[in-house]
Amino acid sequence: KYQSLAYSRVLAIHKQHLSPVDTAYFRKPLLLHQGHMEWLFDSEGNRYLDFFSGIVTVSVGHCHPKVSAVAKKQIDRLWHTSSVFFHSPMHEYAEKLSALLPEPLKVIFLVNSGSEANDLAMVMARAHSNHTDIISFRGAYHGCSPYTLGLTNVGIYKMEVPGGIGCQSTMCPDVFRGPWGGIHCRDSPVQTVRDCSCAPGPNGQGGRRECHSNIKCCDLCMCVCFATDCCQAKERYIEQFKDTLNTSVATSIAGFFAEPIQGVNGVVQYPKEFLKEAFALVRERGGVCIADEVQTGFGRLGSHFWGFQTHDVLPDIVTMAKGIGNGFPMAAVVTTPEIAKSLAKRLLHFSTFGGNPLACAIGSAVLEVIEEENLQRNSQEVGTYMLLKFAKLRDEFDIVGDVRGKGLMVGIEMVQDKISRQPLPKTEVNQIHEDCKDMGLLVGRGGNFSQTFRIVPPMCVTKMEVDFAYEVFRAALIQHMERRAK
Ligand code: PMP
Repeated sequence: KYQSLAYSRVLAIHKQHLSPVDTAYFRKPLLLHQGHMEWLFDSEGNRYLDFFSGIVTVSVGHCHPKVSAVAKKQIDRLWHTSSVFFHSPMHEYAEKLSALLPEPLKVIFLVNSGSEANDLAMVMARAHSNHTDIISFRGAYHGCSPYTLGLTNVGIYKMEVPGGIGCQSTMCPDVFRGPWGGIHCRDSPVQTVRDCSCAPGPNGQGGRRECHSNIKCCDLCMCVCFATDCCQAKERYIEQFKDTLNTSVATSIAGFFAEPIQGVNGVVQYPKEFLKEAFALVRERGGVCIADEVQTGFGRLGSHFWGFQTHDVLPDIVTMAKGIGNGFPMAAVVTTPEIAKSLAKRLLHFSTFGGNPLACAIGSAVLEVIEEENLQRNSQEVGTYMLLKFAKLRDEFDIVGDVRGKGLMVGIEMVQDKISRQPLPKTEVNQIHEDCKDMGLLVGRGGNFSQTFRIVPPMCVTKMEVDFAYEVFRAALIQHMERRAK
């Protein structure tokens, strides 16, 4: 039987031999021992409901029995050969994955991490367009490699070492923290009740509600419905985008990277139609559009398999990682035959481990499980239930500034109060976070000031577990309010 190392020994080894960057999430770091589906167990046998999925990575459940069985079989058959040799798992996987993407996104490059996928997408964009400049949002996270560091612009990840050259940031169209959108919109500070474009539901819910944030006008379908009669948020942010194009980059650009919903920045959603217009502006200047689906892909958003589909746009390049392998290191870049040819003319792209048989067999099993267990549908149903449930906290607590998201990707932004919207100090957010952990719930953190809780469970999560998570989170907030009042 496998025996975990003693806790004190782990701390000592960590201090001496592992990266000194303090990445431990908690004051008393968790020493994990085992996982099963949406549950994790520490070395002392304590159980935690995992609502962060190893940073949005465990898509179908920890140690999912089917995925584990496939991995075990493949490990005994053939677990490595470079992609210079052909093998069925790679070809089967390429066929399966490409079937899930719309035309003309049919050519797949297999790599090992999200950063590597985005590195490759940057090279592709430049090779295809013959231009250099690439734009990404402030608040974006696209990786930690020297190349992608130029695209990453969020909080602690903005490092004091030079990042990739030729990268420019543009204002993130964040309707909660940005200057436009929501009740503090510069254009319209008035809360209004008005129609949303969705039809009212059978019980009269949806279609109409008091708009707090411009995000969830419709309780019925939880669409990202931004009523433009409230304010001109989309237009204002597009003006900013044009300003970046006109002033910060060369007249022609290579590409534009966007996550369909920002993950590390704290589940930030953009005004409806923003991406569509931004994509058109990028293409007018000869650039290609890249959707970073590292967190949003594989059905997590519920209504669609890919996040870009929720914006009704068609990217030229899609990058994916994390959930693709349910935690096994693998990633992919999918593009059009035309862009793939432009790359091939200039570069022999090669990766020793990219497309290895073990990763590909696991990738195929993950896709099968998503389909067999209807996990996209579960993301939609349980995710909507979760969003509606957690949204109640916004009405109950002044320090809950916003609750937003789509499917099983929800963000809870903590503020000092609803009027100032200043981020809740990190020490206070840390305490709530730690209290949740001590009560058996693991949630993530995000945002430029680490002020947003990220609720992103594996896609097999049930409503009962959401109820448990809600009660724990609410108890942690009550505890915190009592502490504050003293
Ligand atoms: N893109 C996004 C949207 C991410 O969230 C991440 C990881 N947090 C990456 C890229 C980089 O992925 P990796 O850590 O696998 O390099």
